[in-house]
Formats: sequence, C-alpha cells, structure tokens
Amino acid sequence: MPKTPEPLASVTINEERLLAALDDLLIIDSLGGTGAELDAQDAVAKTLRSDGWDVETWDLDVAQLVARSDFPGMEVERTGGRGVLARWAGTGGGPTILIDAHTDVVPPGDINAWSADPFVPRRFEVNGRDSIVARGSCDMKAGLVAACEAMRAIDEAGIRLRGDVLFAPVSGEEDGGLGTYALLQHGVVADMCLVPEPTDLALVPANGGALTFRLKVHGAAVHASRRTEGVSAIEKFFPVYQALAALEARRNASVDALMQRWPIAYPLSIGTIHAGDWASTVPDLLIAEGRLGVALDESVDDARAEFEQAVADACAADPWLRDHPVDVQWWGGQFAPGRTDVNASVVTLLGESHFAVTGRSAEMYGGPYGSDLRLLSGIGGIPTVQYGPGDAAAAHAPNEWVATQDVLTSARVIADFLIRAAG
Ligand SMILES: [Zn+2]
Repeated sequence: MPKTPEPLASVTINEERLLAALDDLLIIDSLGGTGAELDAQDAVAKTLRSDGWDVETWDLDVAQLVARSDFPGMEVERTGGRGVLARWAGTGGGPTILIDAHTDVVPPGDINAWSADPFVPRRFEVNGRDSIVARGSCDMKAGLVAACEAMRAIDEAGIRLRGDVLFAPVSGEEDGGLGTYALLQHGVVADMCLVPEPTDLALVPANGGALTFRLKVHGAAVHASRRTEGVSAIEKFFPVYQALAALEARRNASVDALMQRWPIAYPLSIGTIHAGDWASTVPDLLIAEGRLGVALDESVDDARAEFEQAVADACAADPWLRDHPVDVQWWGGQFAPGRTDVNASVVTLLGESHFAVTGRSAEMYGGPYGSDLRLLSGIGGIPTVQYGPGDAAAAHAPNEWVATQDVLTSARVIADFLIRAAG
C-alpha cells in the first residue's frame, strides 16, 4: 500500500494554461521526417525557456547516429533533427529525474475517417467524457504538456526541489527512437525517468519489443490465361502466412505476468502486401511487411532466429519454396523489449503519487508495444516508467482523443511525483 495517502504539497494546476499549451502543440503537424518535426521540438524548447528552464539545443548528426551498431532504426527519410535538453537545477542533494516525451506523431491515415482536420484541435465528448481531439493528443502531446505544467505549478507554489529535473522533448520516437537514442549519445544522466506516454494513468514499467520485417516471396510470371504454367507469389505466400499465424500462437502460449491482460501479448502482424504489376499476369513477386512482437527478456536475436526458422520450415515443406526460399529482411524500427524492476523507486514513488492524487491504486502492466523505455532503461541504464493520460487504443487512430480530466490529473500526479522523488 502507498505510504502517503495525501498529496505532499498543495500545487495548483492551471487548466486554461495547460489546455492552451496543448492546442499550441497540436496545431504543429509534426509527422516523422518532416520539417514540422523540428518545429515541434523548437516550440517546446521555446516554451521551456520562457518557463525558466535552462535549455540546451543541438542539431543531430543523423548520418553519424544511423551508422552506429546499436542504432535502433528509422523508417522515414531524415537528414536532420533537433536535440533539446532542459534542466531545472535543484538546490542539491536530491536525485536527478528525467522526463522524456516525444513530439513526433504518425500520419492521420484516411482523412475521411476524421470528423475534421486532424491538426486543428477540437473539444467534444468522446465516450461520455470531455475530450481533446487531434492527431497527437493522446500520443503523446497531452502527457508532454502535462509534465511542463507540473513543473510550472511547482515553481509557482514556491517549492524548491533538491534534485535536478531534466526535460527532454524528442523526435523520431514513432519510427524507431532516433531522438532518445541521440539524447543518450549526448550523455544525459539521470537516476530515474518518467515517459508520459498514454497509459490511461496506469504504471507501465515494461514494454514488449517490436521488429519490423520484410518478406520477399518469389513466383514465376506467365500470362494469366496459362496460369498453371507459372507460379503465383500470392499463392506461395499462403503457407508462409499460416506458419506465421502458428508461430504467433506458440510465442503467446505462456507470457510474463505483466503481460497477461492482453489477448495477444506479442502480436505478429502483416501490415502491407504488394504483389504483381499487371492484372492478367501471374505475379512473380510478393512483398509483405509486418512487425514481430518480442517477449519481455527475450533477446532480439533469438526472436529473429525463431521467426526465420518458421519461415524456413514453411519453405522446406513446399516443393517450389524449397528451391525458391522466401527472403527475410529486418529493416526500420527494431525495438528491443525493455523493463524496469517493479520494485524500483521510480515505480513505487509514482504509484504513491497516483494514489495520493486520485485515491486509488494505479494499475500496473507491461505494454505490448515498443517504446523509448527500452532505450532509456537498456542503453541508458535509467529506471524508467511510462505513466500518462490517454488510452493507447486511441493513439494512431482517426479522431484521436484524450480525456481533459485525465490530462489535468496526470499533471497533478507528475507534480506530486517530482516533489516526492526530488523534493
Ligand atoms: Zn507515443
């Protein structure tokens, strides 16, 4: 049970200011790989500076970062990026707390599925709750501005923390983790880290991994009127697809306790299929891309090997595929799984803050997605937990939304956590 049922100090979250800051960030269409991605970084840096943070910015040397052996992957073209690291110096003697929040968003998808422009934030009821609707509202601009507001409120209450608080807005999270990787290469050091990703105000100290793959299935082209003399790459994909479905079932037969709430903890999903180039030609090539979920504590190499073996076994069972095996490529985002000990102080303190503010114990579970947590806890060695407003199911979806009340609650919890951890 949490030891402190009451909030540690009285801080006032300014709702109007918080929601205005969220609107200002949501109108920037900070899609990965676009100039607006830098605009969002610059906008947050400017806000932090005017709030009183000591802000350092630098240009990312993307080519040099991508060339490193442990680079986590990138799925969009990028030649530049902006590093931002803000520091609120403590009075001394306390731990250093890092807040890491991404500013990039994924594309809106089918624009007709939205009720209005995805980059013009609107406020209306979703599922009976007053909400803010825009691309990036849930994932994760709401969490980012809530954390900014938390520090403002602490400062306005006249509270001086002993430890330093670091704030790092990052880009490139959605397609691999460029921003946080660059931050760690820049030499950021902290005792614990909060990532205010949308967890619906639950504690998420672990993430499954996700590896992006590409399959090339070969056939033999011939005029469709003589199709029996050719080999359709589409038909040859069937047994491979079935083998992958069976592999997903095997890999999810028994999962870590933190992941048991999910129907499929480690999904294996095909996201794109392209085959053929003419309607009346038997297609000689099918290219399928997808993502392989990686189990907590499983190595990326082991996950890849099991996947490649399943594809190889499917090929071995088919006379054509035996002689024309499917190619497997690993490209783009390569998210290793990551976890922080559930007894780490960052988890305990945040749980106490949630209880103090809401009067309820926070749920705790592992996320089925890859995130920057694995870089921060893995490469950085920083105990990291995700906690923020918004249901991850609304992320990446049309009419993405976050409940206003949850944004305010998360700001209060984050303020309490910073005081509890660094005060
Ligand atoms: Zn996110």
